[in-house]
Amino acid sequence: MTCPHLEYRDRADDRRFDEPRAYCTIADRFVQPMRADICNDRYELAHDRHCEIYLEHTSGDTDGGGEIGDPEATNE
Ligand code: SF4
Repeated sequence: MTCPHLEYRDRADDRRFDEPRAYCTIADRFVQPMRADICNDRYELAHDRHCEIYLEHTSGDTDGGGEIGDPEATNE
């Protein structure tokens, strides 16, 4: 089952793409392709077991800023 917080958007804030990309509505940011495998529960992955954002959200915490799964993004 796909994460209920996953959407596909081609724009958000000042970012725009030619093709829709995975977007997390909890974190309000685009998701890196490898993370999208978790969002889509591909390859034995499960959003409700392997996504710290989903797990933090269900426990009441959220993160903000940057792009999920992007090691070059800064989360300040
Ligand atoms: S990053 Fe986590 S919470 Fe966000 S859509 Fe993907 S699986 Fe769901």
